[in-house]
Amino acid sequence: MSFNFYMPTAILSGEDIVRGNAGKFALGKKAIIVCGRNSAKACGALDDVAAVLEGQGIGYTVFNKIMENPLVSVCYEGGQLAIREGCDFVIGIGGGSPLDAAKAVAAYAANPGIQPMDIYGSDLKESLSILAIPTTAGTGSEVNPYSVMTLDGKNVKKTFKSPASYPKYAFLDPKYTVSLNRNYTVSTALDAFCHCAESYLSPKSTEVSRAFAVMGAQKLYKSLETLENIADDDNAKEAMRPLRYELLTGACAGGVAINATGTGFNHPLGYNLTLYYGIPHGRACGVFMQEYFAYNSRTDEGKSLIDAFCSALGRSAETVAAKIVEWSNVTTKLTDAEIALYIENVKGAGNYANSPYVINVDEMRTIYTKLFK
Ligand code: NAP
Ligand code: FE
Repeated sequence: MSFNFYMPTAILSGEDIVRGNAGKFALGKKAIIVCGRNSAKACGALDDVAAVLEGQGIGYTVFNKIMENPLVSVCYEGGQLAIREGCDFVIGIGGGSPLDAAKAVAAYAANPGIQPMDIYGSDLKESLSILAIPTTAGTGSEVNPYSVMTLDGKNVKKTFKSPASYPKYAFLDPKYTVSLNRNYTVSTALDAFCHCAESYLSPKSTEVSRAFAVMGAQKLYKSLETLENIADDDNAKEAMRPLRYELLTGACAGGVAINATGTGFNHPLGYNLTLYYGIPHGRACGVFMQEYFAYNSRTDEGKSLIDAFCSALGRSAETVAAKIVEWSNVTTKLTDAEIALYIENVKGAGNYANSPYVINVDEMRTIYTKLFK
């Protein structure tokens, strides 16, 4: 166990944190704002950023083509646009998809001439500066260097990361998440909870990362219990409003935790469910939680970590795992051929080694078969 910790992103949080910190946006002459089609505008974040930039005479161009599970080609297109427009810094606004895309856009723009796939494995050290404004409470992308993209023409996700990809500032304003519907609120909270659990069990965890993992898990689990009693009707957004701060800061804490450790096997196994069946990322990870606890409980280290993690939540490990699976609510059925393909897609991921118990390919098949046949 160590006390090591490194996370170079400054977190600024609170109501109207963007407009209240205009000076922090003066990172260059022209920004490229990377966001999704609708939500950045709808939640008010894009207008706040535009006002802050215009107020200081800083130019900007908006690249709003980022879809869920962003394609490498679209991030590359954003990088080329940044180069053509002379943008010298990047502002990501949105859920994990636009924030992850913003990191890739920043890398492509700072390394002109590279081809789309050169972003992987080439040890890129240059990046434009990045500011991150989350509008979901899930991925923690605002405080880590990970950029998860989908490879064009393949149903495979691959993570790019570079030491230069940390956002300089993360601006957390719960009001930007108020427009999230109940489905995405629950799903993103489940993603964040998985980050906390998978990070806590990681052999790379430290005393500090575990403290963040527990803090995040406590905020998120309590909020998820409350969400259980909020009906998905016209009143849901108002009913969820009091939870927004806890969800956003809980997710950010989970992001700090996985910055230190990375994630475990729920993530690669879940990617297939998202890419082939459109199941939102958090639900697609959460559905594996009972298996994740069960396999890791086979080791003394895993069992004692799971017990410590769940006792910090005031719940038994059985209850926590069962609830996370129930809230994930995945009812997909898979054929043997699908299972074989899915394992092929993700068996090379580095995540498996990141737990006390390392599952093998046969165990991946057992897990998929047990849950989805
Ligand atoms: P997302 O894919 O960014 O967005 C999901 C949907 O929510 C989109 O339709 C988006 O609309 C909408 N949305 C976002 N904010 C909203 C708001 N405030 N109000 C209403 N709708 C809103 O979702 P996510 O779960 O945050 O991100 C998932 C991605 O992050 C996956 O690709 C996953 O692999 C990645 N990820 C990254 C990390 C990391 O550490 N970097 C960790 C876990 C997952 P618009 O399209 O209009 O914006
Ligand atoms: Fe995740």
